[in-house]
Amino acid sequence: MQKNDKKIGVYVCHCGGNISDVVDVKKVSEEASKMKNVAVARDYMFMCSEAGQKMIEDDVKSLKLDAVVVAACSPKLHELTFRNVIKRAGGNPYMYYHANIREQVSWVHEHEKEKATEKAIREVRAAVAYVANSEPLEKITVRAEKSVLIVGGGIAGMRAAIDIADMGMNAFLVEKQPFLGGMTAKFDQEIFPYGKGSLKLVNDLIEELKKRHIIVVFTNAELEELSGYIGNFLAKIRIKPRFFKESCKDSNLESICPKKVIDPETKEVRSAIMMPPFEGAYPEVPAIDTNICDFCGQCAKACSAIDLSQKEEILEIKIGAVIVATGFETYTPKQGEFGYGTEGVITLSTLTKILSKKGYLALDGKKAKSVAMIYCVGSRQEKGNQYCSRYCCSAALEAAISLQKAGTRVFHIYRDIRSYGKNEILYEKASIGGSLFLKYNPDSPPTVIKNGGKLTVKVKDLLTEGKEVDLDVDAVVLVTGMVPRENEKLNSIIKVSVGKDGFYQEVHPKLKPVETMISGIFICGTAQGPKMAVESICSASAAAAKAASLILKGYTELEPFVATVDPNLCSLSGDCIKECPYNAIYVYEYEGIGKKAKVNEAVCKGCGACVAVCPNGAIQLMGLRNIQIENMIVNAGGFND
Ligand code: SF4
Ligand code: SF4
Ligand code: SF4
Repeated sequence: MQKNDKKIGVYVCHCGGNISDVVDVKKVSEEASKMKNVAVARDYMFMCSEAGQKMIEDDVKSLKLDAVVVAACSPKLHELTFRNVIKRAGGNPYMYYHANIREQVSWVHEHEKEKATEKAIREVRAAVAYVANSEPLEKITVRAEKSVLIVGGGIAGMRAAIDIADMGMNAFLVEKQPFLGGMTAKFDQEIFPYGKGSLKLVNDLIEELKKRHIIVVFTNAELEELSGYIGNFLAKIRIKPRFFKESCKDSNLESICPKKVIDPETKEVRSAIMMPPFEGAYPEVPAIDTNICDFCGQCAKACSAIDLSQKEEILEIKIGAVIVATGFETYTPKQGEFGYGTEGVITLSTLTKILSKKGYLALDGKKAKSVAMIYCVGSRQEKGNQYCSRYCCSAALEAAISLQKAGTRVFHIYRDIRSYGKNEILYEKASIGGSLFLKYNPDSPPTVIKNGGKLTVKVKDLLTEGKEVDLDVDAVVLVTGMVPRENEKLNSIIKVSVGKDGFYQEVHPKLKPVETMISGIFICGTAQGPKMAVESICSASAAAAKAASLILKGYTELEPFVATVDPNLCSLSGDCIKECPYNAIYVYEYEGIGKKAKVNEAVCKGCGACVAVCPNGAIQLMGLRNIQIENMIVNAGGFND
C-alpha cells in the first residue's frame, strides 16, 4: 500500500436492523478503528438521518479528516448524500467511498451472520484502501450552447420545442416529412381521455410554435451529421427543396400531375404534389414528392408558385443538446395473419382513417352492420413484439363507440382489455352502447374465414368456458399496435442504443427515463416505446427539462471520473484510440513532448476500456486508478478464498 498520512473517518450504519440484525456492526467499527490511516470509526442507527449526517460533518471539521468511508446501503441511494456532507464540512466530496454492506452483505447472507460480518470488515478494508489512495477531484466544466436540436416534428417534438423556447433557449425542430404533425396528424379522431381531436391538438401545438420566434422549423429535412459532445454539438441538416416558392391554394394542382401512386398509409391515390394535408397544417406551402416526380414540368406551366430549379441545402447549426422524437410506425400484419389480405379485413389505423372521413364504415358501398375487432395483433407475441402497445385497446374502444353511434354492432375478441387509468370510461361507454366482449386464449387464437362472400370469425370464448362461437360479420378489424420506426441512418448518426424491441433505450426507466448513454442526447415520445398521446407529451416536457438542466446555465458540469493520459508514458501505440467505444481519444501535440494520445473529457464515459489495452499504463481513470484497485484487492484479503 502506498505510504501516506491521510486521516480517514469510517462510519458503519445499522440501517434500523436491516444491516445490524445480520452484521455485527460494532465489531466492523472496532476493526475499522484499528486500520491504517483511520482516525475515527463509529457506528450509528441511521447514518443518513440528520443526526448521522451532522456527526460526520462535525468529525470532518473537528478532526480535519481528509477522507470518509460510509458502510451502509447501496451507493445508488446515498452516495450523493454523504458526498454533500463532506462538501458542507469544507472537504473534497470525491475523497469518499460508499461500501455497500446491506444489499451486498446483510440481505444476501442473512443465514451466515459470522461470515457476513467478516465480509463487511473486508468491504471496509477495501474502502479504506481506496480513499487512502484517492486524490481530490473537481467536476469538469464544459461550455454549453444554449440551443437544442429536436429531431421529429410530431406532437412530442413540437411540445419539446415549445418547452425549450419557454426556458429561453433556441430550438431547432427538424421534420423529415414536408409537414409537421407526425402520426397524430394522420388520424382525425378523438384523443382519450375526455376527447380533443387529434388534429385540434396538432393545430394548437403549431399555433404555439408560431408564437415563439426562437423556434426554427425545418420540414422536408433530415439530420445528416452530428459531431461534438454535450454542450458543443455541431449538426448538419439536409434540407430538401419543396419546389414551391410560395403557398398555392389551387385544389386542381394535384390532378395536373400525371404521376400517381397509392399512398402506403392512406391507401388512397395521390400525385407527386403534396398539398397541406389539413386546415392549419404547417407550413402552408405544398411540396413535391421527389420519390415520385419525374420533373415533367407540367405543374410548373400551370402554377407560377412552382420552381423546379430549387436545390437541396446543407445547413450547419451549433447546439448544446439533442432530443430525439421520431415517433412510431403502425404494425402491418403478415399476409394471412388473422385473415389479413382477405377482403373486408382491415387494420385499426385504416378503420380510424375511414371513420374520421365518413363517420361510419362502409364496404362495397354498404354500411357495415357488424364488425369483429381482434385485439393484440402484432403485440404481446411470444416470438416477435413482446410488448403491449398500450394505446390500441383504448383506440379500438374509441372506434367501437363511433361505429355503434353509426348503427354498427361490435364484437370485441380480446386477450385482456387494457384501457387503463382514465380510459376505463371508454370500456364502460362501449359496453353500455351494446359492444359484446369475447375473450380468447393466445394458445388457440381466433380464425377468420371467408366463405361465399361472408366473413366468419371462429373463437373459443373463455368467458363461456371455451364455447366455440362463430360470428358472421361484415368486416374484421385487426387491432394493430406500434412498431419502432426504421431509423437506420439516424441511428448511425446519433449512436443512441436501441433495445431488443427496436425502440430507443433510456439509461434506466425509473432513474433516467429520458436520458441516453450519450451525454446530451435525450429521447421522448413513442420513439422510446409505445405510449398514449398524453404520455408522449409528458415525456417530451421531461426531455426538454432535462436538456435545460444541463445547458441552460451556458455551461455544464460533468463527473470527474474520466480517463487521463500521461503523455510522458504514452508511446502513441494507438491501442486506446481503437478501443474507445465513444471516440473520446485523439492525437494531440503536447508542448515539448510531441504527438501523444489525449482524452476529450466531455466525451469520455469512464468505461475503462482504454486503460485495459494501454501497453504502457499511460492511461488511468480518475477516481479509479490502478493503484486504488490493486490496494483494494490486497487489503480486502486478495483472492485467497
Ligand atoms: Fe408531377 Fe411533373 Fe410536376 Fe413532378 S414536375 S410534380 S411529375 S407534374
Ligand atoms: Fe393488446 Fe390492448 Fe396491449 Fe394493444 S393495448 S397490445 S390490444 S392489450
Ligand atoms: Fe474511451 Fe472509456 Fe477510455 Fe473514456 S474510459 S477514453 S470512454 S475507452
